[in-house]
Amino acid sequence: MSPLTRVQRFQGCFPDAPAFRFRQAEAALFQPGATGWGSVSVFPKAMRDSMEAKIPWMSVALHRMAESKDKETFKAVLSTEDNLLFETVLMGNAREQWTVCVSSQVGCAMRCVFCATGAMGLKRSLSSDEIVDQLRFWQSFLRASPALEARISNIVFMGMGEPLANVSSVKRAIRTWVDHTDIGPTHITVSTVGVLPVMDQLLEDKGWPPVRIAISLHSADQAEREKIVPSTVPHFLDKLADWCRRYRQILGNRRHHLTFEYTLISGVNDSGEQAETLARFIERCGKPKLNVIPLNIVAGKPFTASEQERIDRFKQVMLRQGIDVMQRRTMGQDIHAACGQLVASE
Ligand code: SF4
Repeated sequence: MSPLTRVQRFQGCFPDAPAFRFRQAEAALFQPGATGWGSVSVFPKAMRDSMEAKIPWMSVALHRMAESKDKETFKAVLSTEDNLLFETVLMGNAREQWTVCVSSQVGCAMRCVFCATGAMGLKRSLSSDEIVDQLRFWQSFLRASPALEARISNIVFMGMGEPLANVSSVKRAIRTWVDHTDIGPTHITVSTVGVLPVMDQLLEDKGWPPVRIAISLHSADQAEREKIVPSTVPHFLDKLADWCRRYRQILGNRRHHLTFEYTLISGVNDSGEQAETLARFIERCGKPKLNVIPLNIVAGKPFTASEQERIDRFKQVMLRQGIDVMQRRTMGQDIHAACGQLVASE
C-alpha cells in the first residue's frame, strides 16, 4: 500500500480547514526559498508546527546520483517512504534548458521485451506526491548547481511505468505542476504503450490537461507487436486507428500533440517492408508525427540497435510518404538513464 499523501495528511491534521489552505500548502512546495513547512509564513505558527511534525516536505529522498560523461544527463535513484527505489532523469534539451523524465510506477506490468523496467514487474504505482516531487527534486538540484542552466522547460512521462495504468495520480501531478510552475501542458508529454480503455476516457475527460500524447507503437503489424509488447490486446491496431480518428474529431486543435514512438530493433522491426507497413498505418491514423528511437541496449536482452544506415533508410520511407519523422537523440546510455534502461538497482 502507498504511504498517505500530503492532502490526506493535511486533512487528517486540519479536518475543518477550508480548501484554499491546502492550495496554499501546495503552492509553498514550489517557492524557491522554502525549505520546509517552518519557512512558509502564510500559515500561523501552530499550524506550521503540526505540518512539520506530520506532513513530509518531500515524499522521496535521494538514494544515489549518476552523471553522464558529457554532463548532459543526470540520473537520480530515489527512495520512497516505504523504501522502494525508482529512477528519474534530467536531460539537456535542444532549447539549452532541461527536460525531466519522470516515472509513474515502481517497475511496470507491460513487459515490453526490450525494456529493463518491464523485466522488474510492477511493485506499485507512485502517488501524485511522488510524481510531483521528482520535478521538485530536480528544481532543488539545479538551484544547488549554479554552473548549470536553471530552467526546466519540459517534462516527459518516459521513465519507469505505464502512466495510463496510474492515470489519476498522473493527472493530479500534471495539474499541480501546471498550477504552480511556468511549465505549460503542451510542454508535458505522457507516453503510453496504448492503454485503450483509459485513452477512451481521456477523450471525454474535460479535466484532462491538454498535454502531448506519445503512443509507443514499435510495430504496425498486430502479430509482431504482440511479440514486442506482450500487453497488446487483440485488434489493437484497428482500435488504435479508430481512437486516432476520434481524437481528431474531438480534439482536432491538438492533432499536432499526438506522436507515435517507434523503437528500432535490429532485425526485429526495421526492414523496408515493415517501414512500408508503418507508413500505411500512420496514413490511416491521420498522419501523426513519428519519432524513431534506436534501441538502448539492456544487459541480458538479446536485442541490438539498428545501424544508422538502416535507420536512415527507414526514415526515407516515411519522408517519401510525407510523414513527419524525427530521430530522437539517445542520452545517458553510459549511466543507464536512456529509455528502456531504467531499473533502480541498489
Ligand atoms: S517500455 Fe514503458 S511500458 Fe514497456 S515495459 Fe518499459 S516502462 Fe513499461
